[in-house]
Amino acid sequence: PVDRSPEVQEARLKLPVLAEEQVIMEAVRENPSIVICGETGSGKTTQVPQFLYEAGYASDGRMIGITEPRRVAAVSMSHRVAKEMNLPTQVVSYQIRYEGNVTSDTKIKFMTDGVLLKEIQKDFLLQKYSAIIIDEAHERSVYTDILIGLLSRIVPLRNKKGMPMKLLIMSATLRVEDFTENQRLFRTPPPVIKVDARQFPVTIHFNKRTPLEDYTGEAFHKTCKIHRMLPPGGILVFLTGQAEVHSLCRRLRKAFPFRKGNTATGEQSLKMRKRRLLEAGIGDEEDGDSDLDLGDDPADAEEKADGSIPLYVLPLYSLLAPEQQAKVFRPPPPGTRLCIIATNVAETSLTIPGIKYVVDCGRVKKRFYDKVTGVSSFKVTWTSQASANQRAGRAGRTEPGHCYRLYSSAVFGDFTLFSEAEITRRPVEDLVLQMKDLNIEKVVNFPFPTPPSTEALVAAEQLLVSLGALEEPPCTGRLKDMQRAKLSCPITPLGRAMASFPVAPRYAKMLALGKQQDCLPYVIAVVAAMTVREIFEDLDRPARSEDESSKLNQRRARLTQMRRLWAGQGASLLLGDLMIMLGAVGACEFAGCTPRFCENSGLRYKAMVEIRKLRGQLTNAVNAVCPEVGVFVDPKMTPPTEHQVVCLRQIVLAGLGDHLARRAQGEDLVDPKWKNAYKTPLMDEPVFIHPNSALFKTLPEFVVYQEIMETSKMYMRGVSAVEAE
Ligand code: ADP
Ligand code: MG
Repeated sequence: PVDRSPEVQEARLKLPVLAEEQVIMEAVRENPSIVICGETGSGKTTQVPQFLYEAGYASDGRMIGITEPRRVAAVSMSHRVAKEMNLPTQVVSYQIRYEGNVTSDTKIKFMTDGVLLKEIQKDFLLQKYSAIIIDEAHERSVYTDILIGLLSRIVPLRNKKGMPMKLLIMSATLRVEDFTENQRLFRTPPPVIKVDARQFPVTIHFNKRTPLEDYTGEAFHKTCKIHRMLPPGGILVFLTGQAEVHSLCRRLRKAFPFRKGNTATGEQSLKMRKRRLLEAGIGDEEDGDSDLDLGDDPADAEEKADGSIPLYVLPLYSLLAPEQQAKVFRPPPPGTRLCIIATNVAETSLTIPGIKYVVDCGRVKKRFYDKVTGVSSFKVTWTSQASANQRAGRAGRTEPGHCYRLYSSAVFGDFTLFSEAEITRRPVEDLVLQMKDLNIEKVVNFPFPTPPSTEALVAAEQLLVSLGALEEPPCTGRLKDMQRAKLSCPITPLGRAMASFPVAPRYAKMLALGKQQDCLPYVIAVVAAMTVREIFEDLDRPARSEDESSKLNQRRARLTQMRRLWAGQGASLLLGDLMIMLGAVGACEFAGCTPRFCENSGLRYKAMVEIRKLRGQLTNAVNAVCPEVGVFVDPKMTPPTEHQVVCLRQIVLAGLGDHLARRAQGEDLVDPKWKNAYKTPLMDEPVFIHPNSALFKTLPEFVVYQEIMETSKMYMRGVSAVEAE
């Protein structure tokens, strides 16, 4: 018996998934695994866990688990479901990499897919759970794919042992053949239940021309026009990244300033809009048949600030602080129009209420990896037709809507139909190690929904062998056998220890070696810092205005000075960028890790909090593998001694040994493109130390690096000097 408030009751009844409750629960009873497809916003994530709960799936002391590919979704959905069910967060809880509120009373547990994978390592049968829901399966994130493969084995095992578990795979699109038609995955295809979303029609307006560069500018003009000319209703703009999101937010706030008190009344704004429509020759919106195609000419949208029609502009992207993210679910201040500038996060995982207009730039930012060299770069590319349609669908949740595509229909016609599964696009050494630890020796035979390429699997096994995590394959026998052996190397004890650390294999190796010379606290701090995204403020960020320019220059100088201080002196200088990270972590902890300290020191607060949590988690993991070392997190960590620095550099080399670069020399230097450049074994192209690196001036002969990112040049990130052999 769930005690829901009348408002919640009423809102639930409007969700299409509720009409399917009986069908879904009957299918769950009769099948070990089922697939549920339904448009974003149809109520899958918030309601299906409740169906299971009410049908008694959490009553025998076991839990209902739901996995999400994104942390944002795991946290916000757990809060939402707790609220709907009128239950405390001790009962409807969440667990993400660094934090959670799970208790022994938890009955419904939202988690990221990575968290469930770790749990499978501890208990392959997942005995704590009576049902697992894999949410957002259409996103085809790597962990989701692996989980589905593993669960296709776990579910029958649980049945055989007489303690059945149910698997529910949920997808926002109908494209689920990779799961249902894959005989290796499910011998009997699981039934697919379609939830017919009450989706209102969305009129698509294509641009006639496609802006090749300035799509943010185009998004600005289009949003201005919508706001000036079209009836009330929220606007959702899709851009590709954080910087774009902020720049558009700033421009829109400037154009339609919103201050408490300057809200227009409904009557006023309606009159103004009518006048503008007439002026623009678009006719009367009240006709019901009005032409809402705004055209792509930017000239008729003036840029003068207009405070009479305030726009309530909010950013939304995954690195945004949670309390900022939560704002998008709340109604905008009365008399304003809601306008959300978002990245892909808003495409399927979060449903924002009240959106009537979508502006879609048609692009997406993705990380690309070179298959041979591992060099990665973020590139903005066209999205797929399926994604573009998902985005458009966001406009038709509450009433008929409009989607403005900032590209032509011909360009749309050239988009790929679907986005590729992530597993085919990135290195897989972390997955291979996790799978070996689960005693899946022949990873090639694993029932992947979409298998990674054999090259990627071979490269992963080779790296793991070189790190000592897997046994060397025998080099005798026929070529064919040797090749097969290369893909089925057994895991070593070191590999098992590495697999228990929640970081990628190269970093896990460093942790495993950290015992020497009391270096562990430093190794833990450095690894934590290396694996958290973007901890430093970008010193190359352009000034937002003329006035800011001189202030920003001062700030740059001050922050550069501070980083120099963190880099230390003498021997520690050779640790390079890693020493800066260590110094930053030490200084931040010493100051109590406050938002103020971070702001003053050019550190991203959220990243520093993550590092702090990860240090705690890694410390526990190391103690679990190796209790005799007894490490603890010391908030007043003193800088490493000279001797420890030497040791740290060796440890870093052991982890990043395959990321070695040597200063270009000899004949190479004749060609100016090799000036100050480095050579790596796998690439013909020169790579460089970034001007912001601690080692930019030193240019040591040999360095190891964390990764190579291609921006204006091939730059190494996280560089540290090593001795010549
Ligand atoms: P699906 O998983 O099918 O995309 P959801 O279960 O996420 O659908 O959403 C169902 C409804 O619940 C949506 O209309 C959405 O607006 C609403 N909703 C979800 N989370 C929140 C929240 N935190 N606050 C208010 N409404 C929410
Ligand atoms: Mg959902």
